[in-house]
Amino acid sequence: MLDYHIHYHRHGESGPYRLERVRDICSFAAERGLLEVGLSEHIFRFVEFREVVRDWWNHTDDDPRLKDHCRQYFDEHATQSISDYLDLAAQARACGLPVVWGLEVDYYPGRMEAVADFLAGLGLDYVLGSVHWIGAWGFDNEDVLDEWEQRDPDEVYRRYYELLLELAGTGVPTVLAHPDLVKKFGHAPRSFDTSEVFSDLVEVCKSTGIGLEVSSAGWRVPAGEQYPAVQLLERAVAAGLRLTTASDAHVPELVGHRVDDLCRLIGDLGGDRIYGYRHGEAVPVALEGASDRTSSLGGESDLSRSSPAGSETVSYRPHGDGEL
Ligand SMILES: [Zn+2]
Ligand SMILES: [Zn+2]
Repeated sequence: MLDYHIHYHRHGESGPYRLERVRDICSFAAERGLLEVGLSEHIFRFVEFREVVRDWWNHTDDDPRLKDHCRQYFDEHATQSISDYLDLAAQARACGLPVVWGLEVDYYPGRMEAVADFLAGLGLDYVLGSVHWIGAWGFDNEDVLDEWEQRDPDEVYRRYYELLLELAGTGVPTVLAHPDLVKKFGHAPRSFDTSEVFSDLVEVCKSTGIGLEVSSAGWRVPAGEQYPAVQLLERAVAAGLRLTTASDAHVPELVGHRVDDLCRLIGDLGGDRIYGYRHGEAVPVALEGASDRTSSLGGESDLSRSSPAGSETVSYRPHGDGEL
C-alpha cells in the first residue's frame, strides 16, 4: 500500500523541517502496513514561490472580499524555504527512509508556465495537481463556506471540472489529486451531469498518462465518501488509468488513514494495481489478491528495484481495520 498525499505542516503551522517528523510519518505508515509514502507539501508554502504566483487572483476574479481572502491566504502560508524542503528530502533519502518527494500544486490560470519553470530542476518524484480555487474563491475552505449560498451549485460544479480539465492540459501534474473535491461540503449539483465530465476526465488522463488519486480524505468531511466517487473510479479502473492512493494527512497520525479500504475498493472494481513514482516515472505496485491478473508486473517496473530506500516488497497486504 502507498500513501502519496502527505503534508508536513498543518495549515497555520510553520517552522523548520526536521527529519524526526519524517521518521514519525514513516512509523505511522509502517504501522498501517504501507510500503512507501509520498510527501507532497503545498507549493504555496514556499517563500520562493510567492514571487512566481504573484497576484494571480487579480486576473481571475472581481470580488474584492474573495480576492482579499485569497491574497491573505497566500501571504500567510508562504513561510518555508523550498531549499530546506529539498534538503529534508536529501536527508531522508540518505537515511533510506521509504519516502518519495512531490508537491501539491494548485491550478493558477495564466501562471502555469512560470509554475512549470519553478518545478523544473527540483528533482521531484511527482506533482499532485489540485483545483482548490474557482476564481479567487477557495470553495473547499471553511473561511469562505458562506459563498456556497450565493452560488448555483450546477455552475460551481461546471466550473470546477472545467478548471480541472484545463489543469490536466497544462502538463504540470503527474497525478490529479482528490478529483471530485467540489463535493467536500456535501453540496450536490441540481441538474449538472457529472457522467459526461467524468468521461472527459478519464479521456484526458488516458491520453496524457496523468494519474488519478484515490483519497480517503473524503471520508473525513461532510461528503462522507472517498474521492473520487465510485462512478468515476470504476471508469478509471476500466480505462486502465494510473491510480495512486492517498490520505491527504496534515498530521503524522493520519498517514495511511483507510488506505487499506481504498485498495479494497479498487480491487472490488476490478483493479489489480496502483502506482508509485520515481522522478516522474510511474511504477506499478500489485494489489494483493490480484496476482492472477498481474503477470505483466515486475521486471524493471517494481518499486523494490528502483526504490532509493530498497523496499522489500511490492505486495499490498491488508492491515487491520486501518481506521482512526
Ligand atoms: Zn488538496
Ligand atoms: Zn493536500
